[in-house]
Amino acid sequence: MAKIISIINHKGGVAKTTTTINLGKALALLGNRVLLVDLDPQGNLSQGLGHEEPEEQVVHALLEGAELPQVPISENLWLAPSDLELVDAELRLNNEIGGFGRLRKALRAVKDNYDYILIDCPPSLNIVTQNGMVASDSVIITIAPSFFAMKGLQRLMGIVEQVREEIHPDLEVEGIVFTLVEKRLVIHKSVIDYIGEATEGRVRLFQAFIRKNVALEESNSNQTDIFTYDKTSNGAADYMALAEELASVPAR
Ligand code: ADP
Ligand code: MG
Repeated sequence: MAKIISIINHKGGVAKTTTTINLGKALALLGNRVLLVDLDPQGNLSQGLGHEEPEEQVVHALLEGAELPQVPISENLWLAPSDLELVDAELRLNNEIGGFGRLRKALRAVKDNYDYILIDCPPSLNIVTQNGMVASDSVIITIAPSFFAMKGLQRLMGIVEQVREEIHPDLEVEGIVFTLVEKRLVIHKSVIDYIGEATEGRVRLFQAFIRKNVALEESNSNQTDIFTYDKTSNGAADYMALAEELASVPAR
């Protein structure tokens, strides 16, 4: 049965989608069967894997009870695609009883087929993101070090706590991944240190950092993963290290 993980942060541009694609691909290369779920109406995950304007979409499973689409991408890797139609879901799910639990229901039918299911969440804390969290065993928070990231993290942890208290007590925080890291920047080092101190012992900080790496950006615009685009890049090395760390340590 799959371990289901949502990749979350209500900030955009912090590499949620890039992490979903490349952590997913790395886990697939390690021999796991992996499903990537696009839960962002921007559809970047789907576009980043070459699926624009998909016919079958996640939203149909959320609103109409259709089977979750699972498009084969490469060996051991599948995609449940989305695009703008997912915007409709927010309003409708808000007005339906148990609207936060639709993805959980849709995944129940497919999760035995996978080892990992990674859910790429939108940059918000709305009912669509709640669907991701409620469907998950754990969340991974991606953080691009900045002054504002410190403020954002508190709010995000508060929301996770609220989901735990009110809907899903077993939801774990798998850990925090630092992305877009430039280690020589003093601000990066101080943010990472600050977050380490502020979360001391309560949240795992992954040892694997994702360095800023232009090949990662290029792989996205080439609509493929970093291992296919340039397996010798820092980006490929960093995401493989993250996958190995994730696979080796159990969630708290
Ligand atoms: P989010 O999903 O959180 O909005 P994205 O994954 O779309 O973030 O990343 C935002 C932008 O940063 C994209 O243009 C992406 O190609 C780029 N990017 C992500 N990670 C890296 C990295 N490690 N180095 C360089 N560019 C990156
Ligand atoms: Mg994204």
